[in-house]
Amino acid sequence: MDKMIHTFKKIVDNPISKFLIRHMLSKCKKDNKSKLEAALEHYITGDNKCLLCKLDSYILGYIIKKGSEAFGVDEEEVKERMKDPYWTMGLINVLKGIATFGVKKPFVPGSPFQVVWNITQRCNMNCKHCYESKGNSEELGKEDVMNIIDIISSEKIPILAFSGGEPSIHPNILDYIEYASEKGLYVAMATNGFIFSNKERCKEFEEAGLKFVQISLDGLNPKTHDEFRGVNGAWKRACEAIKNFSKTEVFVEVATTVTKNNYKEILGMVDLVEKLGADWLMLYNFVPVGRGSKNVDMDISPKDRYRLLEKIYALNYEREIEILSTAPQFASVATKKSGEIIPTHFYNPKYESNEIRQLADFIGGCGAGRFYLSLEPNGDIYPCVFFPHDEHVKLGNILEDDFREIWEKNEVLWKLRNRNLLKGHCKTCVNRDICGGCRARAYAYFSDVCAPDPGCIHNEKWMEIKNERRYINKSSRHHRHKRKIKI
Ligand code: SF4
Ligand code: SF4
Repeated sequence: MDKMIHTFKKIVDNPISKFLIRHMLSKCKKDNKSKLEAALEHYITGDNKCLLCKLDSYILGYIIKKGSEAFGVDEEEVKERMKDPYWTMGLINVLKGIATFGVKKPFVPGSPFQVVWNITQRCNMNCKHCYESKGNSEELGKEDVMNIIDIISSEKIPILAFSGGEPSIHPNILDYIEYASEKGLYVAMATNGFIFSNKERCKEFEEAGLKFVQISLDGLNPKTHDEFRGVNGAWKRACEAIKNFSKTEVFVEVATTVTKNNYKEILGMVDLVEKLGADWLMLYNFVPVGRGSKNVDMDISPKDRYRLLEKIYALNYEREIEILSTAPQFASVATKKSGEIIPTHFYNPKYESNEIRQLADFIGGCGAGRFYLSLEPNGDIYPCVFFPHDEHVKLGNILEDDFREIWEKNEVLWKLRNRNLLKGHCKTCVNRDICGGCRARAYAYFSDVCAPDPGCIHNEKWMEIKNERRYINKSSRHHRHKRKIKI
């Protein structure tokens, strides 16, 4: 198996292959798209293309064949997947990553796979954990928003997720969804569901091109949820929204932020969410940023987190609904429990093939700054939506700075992409390639993107340190130096 990976690396990670892939990234005037896209289309469907792009398609076919063999996947299955335009964008990104950065561990694609855009800070709720702290920050006009969507589409980033604040109350959101969808993006949206207790509103969003909706539900009953969200009736309307969207073609994920207030309700919620008709239940790790930094006591202990991950992992074998977690430690739990591999923490297909372990080592674990980026309402870029809005981790602004320059050279991104720089147990952990700890939590607690994730059972002493409140927020840097705590 190692030999296969080694062979694949030899085939693609050499100057000639990288040159060929780079050449394919330029535009073919005859086919009016990148040579890579034209070659892929010829490879997948046999579409007629110019002679040179047809030739490129044979080289590409060879690389894909060897890649499929290396990871134990059937080439025909890969071809079938590639008929989906979003997968094609993903493959272009992978090839662009190989040409630009080589076959690295962890792997860095040519552009992220997903951008989450907090399109507004405005909101109709007052949640205790809100990473955006609800506000009225500067928002971009329509033309700027469309320009950013153009950048995202030209960078072949397949998924654009609108978030907030509450994106559904933005007056132009339907236009933005429609435009992004026309540009070929897979459009998702995270919402508290309040306005979607009205079926007609669900229909409007579906017709605009929404493919995936994430609806927050933070408790098994109105008491827990409404108290957390600060609005009476919020739970009832979120449940109705889940039911309504489940009757449409839109993929429905229920998002639950796990805190001390609700973690005992999670197992009951699996029944509820399944009954409401959702496709996925995603358990979000609480990250103490924004308003959450004032409610840090809500964070559950590493042991409770681990036990919960174990339970939900086991439930996946019994239930229709898929239960996932944004805690990257979920991958460690899966490996320990069954030897099963969960290559990413936002999407967890289970693989039986041993070769996939190799793949997971390349793509697994925290994807901040590799597979994900986030945008603020004014276009500021961060590595992941859960990072605090701190100048030290701001990567630039998508309208003012060159996107490629940021993606290829930004220092914070390269720190996040280098697991040798990790600290605490994350540095030496056997699971660091498939987990690596949540970098947003590490930064929220220690103001250091390489710090240990204090939510893991292997980093318990760091959980103790974080319990000293002074380690939270910007002043933590000062205190860390002062007390010479060695991370
Ligand atoms: S020590 Fe770090 S890398 Fe290992 S399982 Fe815990 S969080 Fe993940
Ligand atoms: S920082 Fe990493 S692990 Fe944490 S939520 Fe973002 S992508 Fe996931």
